[in-house]
Amino acid sequence: MGLKNVRYGQQMVEEVGALLPDSFAVATMAEPWAVVALRLGRTPHYTLEVADMGEDAVAQAERAVPPVKAILGVGGGASMDMAKYIHWKRDIPLYLMPTIASVDAGVTSTVAVRVDGKVRYVGQSEPELVAVDYPVVRGAPARLNRAGVGDILSIHTALWDWKCASERRQEPYDAAIAGRVGEMVQQMASMATDLRDVTDAGVKLLFDLYNGENDICEGWGNSRPEEGSEHFFAYNVEYLTGKHFVHGELVCLGVYVLSYLQGNRADWVHEFINQVGVRYRLSDLNITQEEFRQALLTLNRYVRQENLFYSVIDETIIDEQVAAKICADLDIL
Ligand SMILES: [Zn+2]
Repeated sequence: MGLKNVRYGQQMVEEVGALLPDSFAVATMAEPWAVVALRLGRTPHYTLEVADMGEDAVAQAERAVPPVKAILGVGGGASMDMAKYIHWKRDIPLYLMPTIASVDAGVTSTVAVRVDGKVRYVGQSEPELVAVDYPVVRGAPARLNRAGVGDILSIHTALWDWKCASERRQEPYDAAIAGRVGEMVQQMASMATDLRDVTDAGVKLLFDLYNGENDICEGWGNSRPEEGSEHFFAYNVEYLTGKHFVHGELVCLGVYVLSYLQGNRADWVHEFINQVGVRYRLSDLNITQEEFRQALLTLNRYVRQENLFYSVIDETIIDEQVAAKICADLDIL
């Protein structure tokens, strides 16, 4: 479920500092912690530097935390998940302070670890408070905050795939849910300037949309309403290149390319991601043209091999000609 007790403000760091009990541990990374530590006005009993989110590493890190009365997570997705894990294991109060708007881990109740490089959900969390401090989030690299649009924009291509699957494969489809998530994309698009400038309103919008999206996907039972061919493309790029990416940037490239294959307003997608100033071009993402071409040419095989949802990829044979047309027609270099 999405989390209900999210609060926003200019002084949330100080507020959390005043709420924490006398002994607490913090799960964080060097950069976000440097931003928050002074304003918090409190010294943690134990600082856990989050690195590896593999299941065993996470369990080991938890065992190293001494007895404390609360756990605070400060940072991006990995810090949130580590703090949620410790809370879940020990049943101690949890405080979350997401410092970028590019991940939804701050507003989901599930606890995620990685097993063989894939996400596995191991438990549930109930934070006392999720504190979004505007100055902290605005102080993070704009590039990362802007990339936060990716996992909402993905609804655009995911809905097309879902509808297609319901027509071709009689997959269960819910028009009311499709309508609700579709509105989220519209709402986001109407605030492109705030998202580009990373204003308070833009930051709040992203957290709110993630929260709503999570609720809807959990109510439906899977991520069909927000995940489709654009994510499958992104997973294949990661798989083929072994490189690490800012998730939302790679997803934006995926939405652009797959919306083109769907005949689904690729021009509009292009305009939106340029308005926001998301980095999505191959040169921005350090993807070579040959890697991109290979990612397209192996996509049909990849979705079958991984047994992914039915999508536009199953409707199209992506051969040399189609790949060449994508490269020629789209603004991706
Ligand atoms: Zn995603």
